[in-house]
Amino acid sequence: MKKAFFLDRDGVINEEGDPVTGVLFEPEKVRLTPGAAEAVKKIHEAGFLAIVVSNQGGVAMNWYTMEEVYAVEKRLCELLREEGGHAPDAFYYCPHHRKGVVAEYSIYCENRKPAAGMLLKAAKQWDIDLSSSFMIGDRFTDMQAGENAKCAKCCFVLTGHGRTDEEKVLQEGRFPVKNNLLEAVTFLLEEFG
Ligand SMILES: [Mg+2]
Ligand SMILES: [Zn+2]
Repeated sequence: MKKAFFLDRDGVINEEGDPVTGVLFEPEKVRLTPGAAEAVKKIHEAGFLAIVVSNQGGVAMNWYTMEEVYAVEKRLCELLREEGGHAPDAFYYCPHHRKGVVAEYSIYCENRKPAAGMLLKAAKQWDIDLSSSFMIGDRFTDMQAGENAKCAKCCFVLTGHGRTDEEKVLQEGRFPVKNNLLEAVTFLLEEFG
């Protein structure tokens, strides 16, 4: 079986988009977080898969389309390669939101974090042992998704929305908090890899 690092996308690999809403759908606005390319490289060198699991409820909200989500993904992969790393092995998205306005996407979906759907689906498709895998995110719901999937450890980063959920995560006490993706990857490999 394989092992994986499950990574949230926005606020973890790339910076949040719009300063107010955090929405990111224009490829030219994609910016990597510090050390992101090195982090993904390190994941691969350690023999893990890098799998992105990202809520994109903005599709249900009609803020952007799945085509725009894929355009951002393409740009993100280009930037990771340009900085000497390489692209993640797979991207999983949940475009759904219960309170959306686009009918086909406005449903409850078991893939939307904090539910574990995307991680479970990836585990099945890639033959991943979740108990030797990790989740890294900048939201408390990322930590919950990793726990719901029974990952070995979930690590919180302070990039993106990190400062918003930091207090809650610290109160919970069981999630290591790191400054960015690279620090989180380095820590998890040293302590639990
Ligand atoms: Mg995020
Ligand atoms: Zn969904």
